Amino acid sequence: MTKGAMLYEGKAKQVFETDRPGEVIVRFKDDATAFNAQKRGNVDLKGEMNNAITTLIFEYLNDKGIPTHFIKKLDEREQLVKKVSIIPLEMVVRNYSAGSMAQRLGVDEGIKSPVTIFDICYKRDDLGDPLINDHHAVFLGAATYGELDEMYDLTSDINDILIELFDRMNIILVDFKIELGKTADGQIVLADEISPDTCRLWDKDTMKKLDKDRFRRDLGEVTEAYVEIYERLKKVLNK
Ligand code: UDP
Repeated sequence: MTKGAMLYEGKAKQVFETDRPGEVIVRFKDDATAFNAQKRGNVDLKGEMNNAITTLIFEYLNDKGIPTHFIKKLDEREQLVKKVSIIPLEMVVRNYSAGSMAQRLGVDEGIKSPVTIFDICYKRDDLGDPLINDHHAVFLGAATYGELDEMYDLTSDINDILIELFDRMNIILVDFKIELGKTADGQIVLADEISPDTCRLWDKDTMKKLDKDRFRRDLGEVTEAYVEIYERLKKVLNK
């Protein structure tokens, strides 16, 4: 397989075309951004860790019947995936209060929610990815009500599987964000990544943050947190 031209460059990843129809290469970078790219930095090993972690999690979800864009890991930084058109909605799931929701509602972080909370944000960097509702999403033409139903169901199933997986790693899945895409034949599948960049992960015993908040909030030991997640994931999956 040959790697072709770069099709897209985002904050943390690049996408390249290949000579295989309908398949593209995703390359994970060490670049880190936060607060709508106002804070920028570089985290050693982040690209390799997020590629490895996303690979293990997407393979695990595939095995559990979740459709994903993932095909295979190619090397330390790259994976081969199905080409999809990304639905411009970030699906956010919250099991505990944290981050922007804690701020917006004026509550402490770390309160367990009696219900699973779903937020959707409109993927528009120039607007700071605003929080929207289903009606806005339909108005924008991002999805139909029927597709939103399917997207919430898929997101909820992913949450159930991940809560259990992280629990076995002695980790609380506080919240996370996923992106969904449509394949050429119209199927909605999980795309993008699931990693400490896109999840809040707290150690169950110490409540230590093992995710991107270490970078966002200058808590130090950022690389160590990503490596820790990878090591615990490998252990519970026997990889
Ligand atoms: N998140 C993400 N990308 C974004 C915004 C949020 O991956 O552009 C993740 C974030 O890591 C957290 C969850 O989505 O796990 C909820 O984030 P929140 O809305 O609280 O925003 P934040 O506080 O991260 O700005």
